[in-house]
Amino acid sequence: IKTVNVEKIYTSFDVDTVALNKVNLEIEQGEFVSIMGPSGCGKSTLLNLISLMDLPTRGEVFFMEQSTSKMSDRKRAEFRRKYIGFVFQNFNLIEELSVYENIELPLVYLRMPPSERAQRVRAVMERLDVAHKQRFFPMQLSGGHQQRVAVARAIVASPLVLFADEPTGNLDSKHGQEVMEILSELNEAGTTVVMVTHSTANAEFANRIIQLFDGHIVTGKVNQYSF
Ligand code: ADP
Ligand code: ADP
Repeated sequence: IKTVNVEKIYTSFDVDTVALNKVNLEIEQGEFVSIMGPSGCGKSTLLNLISLMDLPTRGEVFFMEQSTSKMSDRKRAEFRRKYIGFVFQNFNLIEELSVYENIELPLVYLRMPPSERAQRVRAVMERLDVAHKQRFFPMQLSGGHQQRVAVARAIVASPLVLFADEPTGNLDSKHGQEVMEILSELNEAGTTVVMVTHSTANAEFANRIIQLFDGHIVTGKVNQYSF
């Protein structure tokens, strides 16, 4: 992943907000990167750009050496399905689908044959220790289990990069620690992990910390957070 002079400006009610200003960064395959900084500094915006969910106002985001703004919408969606997994703070599971069906969904979108889907879903449910919950619906699970299901869904298609936006934000410390250990294991097995977090404890799992402040990357140590 590479960004070159990336700017993101949101315009609402004729007011411009510069969310990112000339951001340059590179993330190599296999890294575990944590993006930190105070509320409103542009962390989620940056994550959305490098996970191909949104496009910059100016500058370029490269994913696997391809400029995302030059890709067609279709190509970008295909890249997301094939190469990217995403874990959210609020889990974002589909309430009408069972645990099994939630995890299977990305494979349905990839048009994988049913027998291969079943194999993959079973393997990933075992790995995340949620197989015993497969017939449950998200509302019937604790937050810790919901996030494990969400991680299972994010990795079932074997993405190259796993993005996580405050993955432990709605979890108690025990379940938060569990999720961080899972992300760490996935990284050790070769998946690139890019995580946004407020938590210095979480950031310690990363190999590298990118500090954002007012839409800029700041180098060196920042020891002051404002929430
Ligand atoms: P963080 O994730 O670090 O809290 P965000 O990326 O969410 O920061 O936001 C960066 C800035 O952009 C903030 O000033 C925020 O209010 C603004 N912003 C984010 N999303 C939008 C949007 N959709 N419309 C207008 N302003 C936005
Ligand atoms: P563990 O500590 O083993 O991860 P929890 O103590 O979080 O498990 O939860 C055990 C089980 O209790 C959950 O899998 C779920 O079935 C049920 N449970 C916990 N919290 C809730 C909740 N808020 N709503 C519904 N069910 C819950």
